[in-house]
Order: sequence, then structure tokens, then C-alpha cells
Amino acid sequence: MTASPPQAPTARVLRTEIPGPHSRELHRRRAATVASGVASVLPVYIAEAAGGLLHDVDGNSLIDLGSGIAVTNVGNAAPEVVEPVRRQVAEFTHTCFMVTPYENYLQVCEELAALTPGEHEKRSALFNSGAEAVENAVKIARRATGRQAIVVFDHAYHGRTNLTMALTAKSVPYKHGFGPFAPEIYRVPMSYPARDARTGAQVAREAIERIEKQLGADSVAAVLIEPIQGEGGFIEPATGFLPAIAQWCTDNGVLFIADEIQTGFCRTGEWFACEHEDVVPDLITTAKGIAGGLPLAAVTGRAELMDAMPPSSLGGTYGGNPVACAGALGAIRAMRERDLARAARAIGDLMLPRLRALAASSDAILDVRGRGAMIGIEFVKPGTSEPDPEVTSRIAGTCHAQGVVILTCGTYGNVIRLLPPLVIEQSVLDEGLAVLEAAIREHTS
Ligand SMILES: *Cc1c(COP(=O)(O)O)cnc(C)c1O
Repeated sequence: MTASPPQAPTARVLRTEIPGPHSRELHRRRAATVASGVASVLPVYIAEAAGGLLHDVDGNSLIDLGSGIAVTNVGNAAPEVVEPVRRQVAEFTHTCFMVTPYENYLQVCEELAALTPGEHEKRSALFNSGAEAVENAVKIARRATGRQAIVVFDHAYHGRTNLTMALTAKSVPYKHGFGPFAPEIYRVPMSYPARDARTGAQVAREAIERIEKQLGADSVAAVLIEPIQGEGGFIEPATGFLPAIAQWCTDNGVLFIADEIQTGFCRTGEWFACEHEDVVPDLITTAKGIAGGLPLAAVTGRAELMDAMPPSSLGGTYGGNPVACAGALGAIRAMRERDLARAARAIGDLMLPRLRALAASSDAILDVRGRGAMIGIEFVKPGTSEPDPEVTSRIAGTCHAQGVVILTCGTYGNVIRLLPPLVIEQSVLDEGLAVLEAAIREHTS
């Protein structure tokens, strides 16, 4: 009989300061070899991770409220992902789908057709990263419509490649000095309820008027939007905004592309965030949560648009790698069988009232918002609406020092975003929230 391996802790454990000595040592090595433009929020080096805990090289166990930026929705090392990935990697690792194909690529596309909004006939193409999916959605939209302009929104984030930098709103750190940027990208206002009291329909009307006056609908290939903005500040547009934009698109032969790379795969309490307002996109981009941490991304869209692309006009060496596809099928199975959309709603139901109670007693919190397990807290100078990125980063720093991994975001850097794995144990989530609440009180009173 072999001894079973020691079980990793199932709660937060702090054995050293954070980061600990081994992490610090690795971080010194890193500076001599890793390009400095690639930064880390919290330079704690991880040895193992599962559920909602990250176990580091110093024997600390940290609470994960970031999911590696909304990726490990099914938790780290989920058994439903590990087993098929193990099997696939032993069978074959790569043939290139464009050379000699394999079945699990098809199965992922079948799942995407079934799960994404809309009952229409769909086709998918698989890629490696979110930015690559967005680039391809834009390629497809332009070719399918014969038009060139792409409309994006204030606060948008779509990636770091050349085209997606142009689509992204924020200059520092994503764009500054990296131009020239791709042409034919136009930016319009986004509904931002915490900072703009207008209804969704009113802001949509302004955005549409700008498009019509400055471009003309018939030059526009697509409107590209995150149904809830991620990097830009977890901005959930006012009710009615998305449906009004989508309807205008339909009326004008403009494609509506939903970038659900961060919001997709149960994160917001539905499979996709467009479902909250019954919006059916023409094209949808997915990545992040799709494969339990393996690199995979997709464009899924109306069959007639997707099939308008000539042979070999889409693809890439690694796109839809069989190991990543095995991971995706496992992650989707976990989401379905464990009803992780429901788990996301339960996480929101636990977090929102607690954070709103805290906000009610603090004039440094402008807003607590979000859906499901995608919750943002926006910080301002007390009693004003002036963003306070300093206090936001101090709160995050205190959480990090106490072994709770949280992320910030926002055009103004003043939003704490909470993205726990959807499988996080309630006791672990409770403890993480308690640390965050104490940090907020410490820095805002
Ligand atoms: C992360 C993200 C991207 C880019 O995905 P990468 O995999 O980092 O290239 C694009 N759009 C949204 C909404 C994202 O959150």
C-alpha cells in the first residue's frame, strides 16, 4: 500500500511574511531574466493550487479572489479538467487542426453552438488567446459585411496586440508609446450608471447618434462591446443600453459582437452575460474561463457570416490545440454538472449585501456593482466622485500581505474586482471577504 500524498490545506495558512523568502529569491532571479514589461500583481510564486486556494513555495496558502483573471471558474486543477487533459496529453499533443484534424475540436464547437445565446445555426473557430479571438472577430465582421469601421466604447478592454490595443480605451499602460495603431476604430460613450444618471436608452441614443453623424451606419462593420466591462472597471451598463445598441445593429446591417472573454462561462450567473437582457450577438468571443486554465479562445457566430470566410483565411498553428480542447470539454462538463452558474449567483448573493452594507457606512465607496461572481467596488475621495486609485491600491496591498489575492481595475485604477473561482468553499470566501472588509475599514475611516 502506498501512502497517500499529504493533503494541501483547505483554509488560509500564513507561515511567513507575504511574499516569503523563497518567493523573494525567485523574484530576484526573475529580474535578471524575465522582461520587465511583464509584471505580476503579487509576486508570490505558486507551487500548487486547487479550488479557491493558492499554495506558495514558502508553505503559505492564499485565498484566491481573482481566478487568474476570471480563468479558473471551475477552480484550479479541477478533476473534470485534469483527467481528460492527462489522457489527451498521453495520446497526442498536436497535429495542427489545419493539417490533420481531431474530434475534440469539433466537440468544443458543438458545445459553443449549444451554450452561446441564440437558436440560430452557428459555426466556431478556435484560437489561443482572447486578443486573437477579438482580432478574428473583427476580420470576419469586415469581410462578411464588406465594411471597415469598428465601433468600440469608452473604458473598453479587448487585448494587447496591435489591433486590440486600438480597440482598448486606456492609454497607460496598454497603449502609450506602442503606436501607430490600426485604423478605422471609433469610440463612443458607454453607459456607466455610477457616474452617469442617464438611462440605458438615453446613452445608447447618444452613442448611436455619434455613429450616424460621424461615420454613417453603412460604413460600420460591427459594434464590439463587453456586456459588462472587465478591465475598464466592472462597468455594468444601465438596463436597456445593450438591447438598444443590438437593435440598432440589426436594423442597420451592422454586426453586434459581444466580447464575453471575461464575462463568459458562468461568471456572471448565466452561461453568458448577454443572457441577462436576452441580447443575441451575431458574433461572440470567448476565452479565459473556457478551458479551466488551458489556453483556448473562440469566435462563435452566425453560420452565414462565419462560412463567408474563404478556406485558410482563418486559423493558426496552435488554435484549438487538442490538450486545450480536452480541458475545455472537462471545464464545460464541470460547469454543467455542478451548476456553476447557480454557484456564481450564490457568490454574488453572499458578497453584494455585505459589501453594500459596508458602502452604506463609507463615503469613500462610490459604488458596489456586478453580477454573480463578478463584483466591483469603486473607491473615491470621501464624499466626492473623484477616483481614488491610491486608497484602492493600499486596500489591495493590505489584502495581499494577509494572503488574500485580489485584483484592481478601472480606467482610473480605483476599482477592486472580485472574481473568485465558482467552486470556492463558502468558509474560504467568508474569510477572504472578512480580510477585505477589514482592509477597507482600515484605509477609509
Ligand atoms: C482578457 C480579455 C481580453 C484579452 O484576452 P487575452 O487572452 O489576454 O488576450 C479581451 N477582452 C476581454 C473582455 C478580456 O477580459
